[in-house]
Amino acid sequence: MIRIDHALCKKCGICVEICPKNALQLNRELKVIERKCTSCGLCELYCPDFALEVVRNG
Ligand code: SF4
Ligand code: SF4
Repeated sequence: MIRIDHALCKKCGICVEICPKNALQLNRELKVIERKCTSCGLCELYCPDFALEVVRNG
């Protein structure tokens, strides 16, 4: 699963663009569609604000 720190997220949309599974949606706030996410870690890698964290056993 992906943990989002909404206080750090500035809604730039980079993670939404980079996600190969279209598992992220940005409306009023960023959301993860967990059933689409493969925990590949790209969003965590590309977020310039360290707002995303892949949680592998939680
Ligand atoms: S890349 Fe980071 S700051 Fe930008 S929308 Fe995604 S989580 Fe938020
Ligand atoms: S871990 Fe990968 S599949 Fe999941 S939301 Fe991030 S970029 Fe998308």
